[in-house]
Amino acid sequence: MPRLRHRLSLRVVTLTIMLAIMTAIVGVSGILSLKEFQEDYGKVKDNNFEMLLNMTMLKVQSNEVLTATTDMFLAENESDLRRFNLYIKDRAAWIDQLSEELANRVDNAQELFLLKSRLYEQVKDISDGMFKKIALSEALLIEYKKVETYKRLQMKGGNSEIALMADNVMSLFNSMDQKSLLSQEKPTIEKVKQFILPLKNTISEQEYNQLSTLFLDTPSLTSTYQRYLVQLEVLNVLKSENAQLSQLVTSVTGEAILAAQKSFLNNLNKVEEKITVRKSHLYLLLFASFIITLMLVLLQIGFLRRVHLIRKIIDAGDAKNQFQIPVSGRDEISEMAKSVKKYIQEILEKEQQVTETNKKLEHLAMHDGLTNIYNRRYFDANLEQEHLRYLRYKEPYCLAMLDLDLFKSINDTYGHDIGDKVLIDFTSRVSKQLRETDLFARLGGEEFGLLMPRTSESSALILMERIRGHINSMPCIADDFHIDFSVSIGLVEVQNIDDMHDVLKQLTLADKALYDAKKTGRNRVCVYQGEPLITHQIA
Ligand code: GH3
Ligand code: MG
Ligand code: MG
Repeated sequence: MPRLRHRLSLRVVTLTIMLAIMTAIVGVSGILSLKEFQEDYGKVKDNNFEMLLNMTMLKVQSNEVLTATTDMFLAENESDLRRFNLYIKDRAAWIDQLSEELANRVDNAQELFLLKSRLYEQVKDISDGMFKKIALSEALLIEYKKVETYKRLQMKGGNSEIALMADNVMSLFNSMDQKSLLSQEKPTIEKVKQFILPLKNTISEQEYNQLSTLFLDTPSLTSTYQRYLVQLEVLNVLKSENAQLSQLVTSVTGEAILAAQKSFLNNLNKVEEKITVRKSHLYLLLFASFIITLMLVLLQIGFLRRVHLIRKIIDAGDAKNQFQIPVSGRDEISEMAKSVKKYIQEILEKEQQVTETNKKLEHLAMHDGLTNIYNRRYFDANLEQEHLRYLRYKEPYCLAMLDLDLFKSINDTYGHDIGDKVLIDFTSRVSKQLRETDLFARLGGEEFGLLMPRTSESSALILMERIRGHINSMPCIADDFHIDFSVSIGLVEVQNIDDMHDVLKQLTLADKALYDAKKTGRNRVCVYQGEPLITHQIA
């Protein structure tokens, strides 16, 4: 086999291995990418998304606390305040937990902690201030009642001037309404004294002491009222502080939320970038795999076409076709196809030779080598067949034996080779006289047999005479010699014989007739018809 330039199978195997490797790379890199994405996604979720959520939650809870503190200003009794405090405590627990979680994660954690403590201080201040205000308003109510009682007593049976004076003093403390209270001038001890002192000379010391207790001492309506007003101012300041704090909460938490959102978005973008890169890698790998697959498919098509070619060559060989299947290519399958084609062609040629040899052998087995007419073996077999046919269908046949006369002397005179030529000339001339169904054979030497199926004795006799006459009338020309010769013929029409195995007995009968022809002078036809024999002689 010639040196192979292209090894198709090697290329198929190489490409298959490459495809397997590419597929593995695509798979592994796909799995790794997914894993990486999962990790990145987890990080973004844990770090950024949760932080953002916590931050928002912190803002919401802080605002809730601030709303509660604002509402606290409207509290009318201690139980309201305690309710607010409980509510705020709940929020505070949230705020504590959230700021703890955020402590290490946000940039403005310090700010958040400060804000938280400010918020708690504010809550405490407002709560304390409100408790104090409620306590003071109750104390003020008691002082009012005391003055009212004293005034009524004086009106009923005491000093009506005192009652009038008390009424006038009361006008200084006429309003409990917060707005008007804060806007009006704060009543002082001096101002109250201006109402009391003019009466000092007209009233008893006891009465003066009573008035002092009601208006000038500590505690008294005046001092309680003053403290109440002071407390209202304190609460007012706290109220404005509350508004500021609310703004601060909004700005600090808002800033943190914005930062968290930014970092969230940033990290999401990074993950997205990574995914895009990974995706393009995967696309590239998939494209390469696709190209390899395509090459493999094309290669395999080529491979299969060559295999199919071998199949076609073998089929053509089976059908013994003279095939013209072109085989090109230098790869091993094409080389194999060429070899197969060559072997099949050789086999076909050999087969042809064998057939021809067999034909020759068959011809040799049935024919005589010198004259090329049938030989004894073939003649005997056909004679037997013909006789069987006769036994079955009763169709008559004739059998003749022909022997050249004095042939020995021809040999002696002209030589053996000329004798051969005479034999050949004889057979060729006899053959031309015969019908296709007649069977002419050389039985040995210069002796011949002639089988004439479906022929009556009279017809056969005519034919025999014609042959004999033809041979006798024309010399054989060989090597410039004109050789006259004649033939003696013994003829027999079929005789019924019982013994199938002794079918050659017919030949014996013909031979007897031939013998008679020889004995009665040669160059004649004798017909066997039982004893005695009838001899025909034409002059
Ligand atoms: P008869 O008329 O009585 O038949 O005389 P004959 O000489 O023909 O008979 P014989 O049997 O005495 O001689 C036959 C001769 O035929 C003898 C032999 O040399 C010759 N012969 C037989 N076969 C061949 C052959 O193949 N070639 C040649 N040239 N001669 C042959
Ligand atoms: Mg003879
Ligand atoms: Mg003879």
